[in-house]
Amino acid sequence: MTFSVHGLAVSRGVAIGRAVIVAASRVDVAHYLIAPEEAESEIERLRRARTVVAEDIARVQRTLGELGSHDAHPELSALLDVHLMLLQDEQLTNGVKHWVVERHYNAEWALTTQLEVISRQFDEMEDPYLRERKADLEQVVDRLLRVMRGETTSVTTSAVADAVRKGTEDPLVLIAHDLSPADMLQFKQSVFAGFVTDVGGKTSHTAIVARSMDIPAVVGARSASHLIRQDDWVVIDGDAGVVVVDPSPIVLAEYGFKQRQGEIEREKLSRLKNTPAVTLDGQKIELLANIEQPGDAVAALKAGAMGVGLFRSEFLFMGRSGQLPDEEEQYQAYRRAVEGMQGLPVTIRTVDVGADKPLDRGASRNDDHLNPALGLRAIRWSLADPAMFLVQLRAILRAATHGPVNLLIPMLAHGSEIRQALALVQRAREQLDAAGVPHGPVQLGAMIEVPAAALTIPLFLRHFDFLSIGTNDLIQYTLAIDRADEAVSHLYDPLHPAVLQLVASTIAQAHALGKGVSVCGEMAGDVTLTRLLLGMGLRSFSMHPSQILAVKQQILRSDSGKLAGWAQDVLAADEPAALLAD
Ligand code: PEP
Ligand code: MG
Repeated sequence: MTFSVHGLAVSRGVAIGRAVIVAASRVDVAHYLIAPEEAESEIERLRRARTVVAEDIARVQRTLGELGSHDAHPELSALLDVHLMLLQDEQLTNGVKHWVVERHYNAEWALTTQLEVISRQFDEMEDPYLRERKADLEQVVDRLLRVMRGETTSVTTSAVADAVRKGTEDPLVLIAHDLSPADMLQFKQSVFAGFVTDVGGKTSHTAIVARSMDIPAVVGARSASHLIRQDDWVVIDGDAGVVVVDPSPIVLAEYGFKQRQGEIEREKLSRLKNTPAVTLDGQKIELLANIEQPGDAVAALKAGAMGVGLFRSEFLFMGRSGQLPDEEEQYQAYRRAVEGMQGLPVTIRTVDVGADKPLDRGASRNDDHLNPALGLRAIRWSLADPAMFLVQLRAILRAATHGPVNLLIPMLAHGSEIRQALALVQRAREQLDAAGVPHGPVQLGAMIEVPAAALTIPLFLRHFDFLSIGTNDLIQYTLAIDRADEAVSHLYDPLHPAVLQLVASTIAQAHALGKGVSVCGEMAGDVTLTRLLLGMGLRSFSMHPSQILAVKQQILRSDSGKLAGWAQDVLAADEPAALLAD
């Protein structure tokens, strides 16, 4: 039966594929496609794991027997019997085989997929005893996964690409209750053609990573992961924020047409790659890329970016079970990004973890804090651990020997934070000098993303070479709207007069002192706002590589002189959105 689920449109385009439902607790399980001829060895891996777990259970049973504890612990004994039975359960083993042989899932993925299928059946059972067996099944699967983890080699990008070439027939789309930014990063190299999550706001970091992958995504779709079943055919309309489940042939044909239109549109835009971004009245506009990993430099160059305006370095720190990257590892990563940009500038932002970017899923430093977005996040987190911050600063300064580097500091609000951060940059330089380690010059920049900073721009301009406006947080903190909370997403408004005033006055004050200023929040990549930002005097935009050409198209059609007067009217309006619609 066809039905649709509505959410927030966060990454454009249409994806059509079979649903892969991933339970939030199991997104760290490897997901890749195997070649059809590998199915037997994949099933064999699972058989071996099953034997290990079964022997383990049998050993515990023997020990209980030797201790005469069977009678003392009847529940434990019964539980072990149930686990043994579940291990051999036909629905589990046949189901797993189905996913491996028919769909070419790797064994771990097949196992968790089948677990989801059976779990749903358990959920629907009336009998509370049987319903509780779901927890047992989960335990059994967890044990199997743990055993298999020992055998699993990590999946490289090329291995995935090979597998895709060899194995798949149907495209796949991922449906999950929630995905952390670190999970998203893992899926960056994956086979999924689109994403849907139950929770999340338009500028949540999960949405941002989806956009950076340039694949259709819908977040905040509430109960999508419950309503959609494993293997359902699903259409994700990333422009409208709609997910159509089990579409009729007519609906499918319509979306297929829309998908092709999108491809044609992209093809047309790609011709602008080498066209300079200049307005009709001759203003040169700098279009920069936002990246999360050094390897993203390739996409940045391909899109014609003139540099990296924001390298979100925190993605190097995530999903490592608290084991932070050391100086050498960070240096190599920054160096790769710098070299990857072939002489174009790279703006490396110091680590911004916290809020909706925990270091590890379920293991954030902020877990026990009431309001992480207002808590120990970004520069506050760095200044709380100066030794760790110095490691990052040294690594960035060293990378600056390989090409032009800008060092950007997030979420500053206080003069004291500015002084401490800059003193630590100086200390990092001195430490490198003392150790005789080469380092390069960097331009120093501050993110303007807290209203307190936007209201004290002269202070920032006294200390920094350039400013970068982080509109995602500036909107969140100005309007008191959690950017990751879909329940208040309708109030998250880039066109609120207060937000526009802060953005416009930051640009004007930086220009008055001849200092560089760019916007690196999602507003910069939103084509409906390009003309307004140009009219406000913005000449540097940083966004996901996938947005660059569409923004360039707007620029090529704009006369910045004419837009300046209109932008003043928009800024003075009670309802700026109404003027934009004209
Ligand atoms: C912003 O806040 O606009 C920004 C670019 O930083 P992030 O989205 O990583 O918080
Ligand atoms: Mg920010």
